[in-house]
Amino acid sequence: MDKVRAKKHLGQHFLTDENIAKKIADTLTLEGYKTVLEIGPGMGVLTKYLLEKPLTTYVIEIDTESVTYLQNHYLKLSNRILSYDFLKYDVRQIFKEEPFAIIGNFPYNISSQIVFRTLEMRDQIPEFSGMFQKEVAERICEKPGTKAYGILSVLTQAFYDAEYLFTVSEKVFNPPPKVKSGVLRLRRKENYQLPCDEKLFFNVVKTAFNQRRKTLRNSLKTFNLPEVLREDTIFGKRPEQLSVQDFISLTQSIATALSTEN
Ligand code: SAH
Repeated sequence: MDKVRAKKHLGQHFLTDENIAKKIADTLTLEGYKTVLEIGPGMGVLTKYLLEKPLTTYVIEIDTESVTYLQNHYLKLSNRILSYDFLKYDVRQIFKEEPFAIIGNFPYNISSQIVFRTLEMRDQIPEFSGMFQKEVAERICEKPGTKAYGILSVLTQAFYDAEYLFTVSEKVFNPPPKVKSGVLRLRRKENYQLPCDEKLFFNVVKTAFNQRRKTLRNSLKTFNLPEVLREDTIFGKRPEQLSVQDFISLTQSIATALSTEN
């Protein structure tokens, strides 16, 4: 068979525009890594441009039909085709401690999970770029004070500088998705260690946004914070009003309050 049959449950929408494929591959700055991992290569429209770069390219693909296609058409990939679910595979088996970049025209049904997994592995991932559903790409890059600003924006921007690069029409896919797509690039900050308890930071951000219409005074009740702290003006705000820096300061105050209490 000459082409992979698109499977809806795997989020398969194959990009048909070579110029856009090249443009996405060219979003990689090549700074700080020598290896790239493409998630969801499908029939390799992006892969062929990655293979032209001074990088070692690995691909990870869940669909065995696509894997067979890649094995037959991209001999240069040789044994660097990983036939696995990215969300379940421990890439450290391959990369050990080496830094690597992530790229892809991602399966949109798991795009947030791909970002969360990248954040977990941030020590090894200096750069991340690729295509999402437009709204998701915008959300990741969004600034405070907007409706779209949320967990994904704060957690990503705590560690990465996020740039929305360009929008892609639904017409350049086969089959066409119902939504437009957006390409973004994340570059890890030079100093990406947070000056607070990182686990508590994740917890505070998630808890606050889980009830995003409430003030922090109400949404953070479960932390059992002392009354004096909850009187601080920041607790009268809603999570979407807080910058990454505000969330860091908030985490620091909460950590201090919790430790002096016991
Ligand atoms: N990059 C290709 C295909 C995009 S469609 C192109 O631009 O044409 C998304 C691809 O992600 C599909 O090939 C799909 O099989 C793959 N995919 C879906 N879920 C995946 C997962 N959990 N791990 C790895 N690949 C996955």
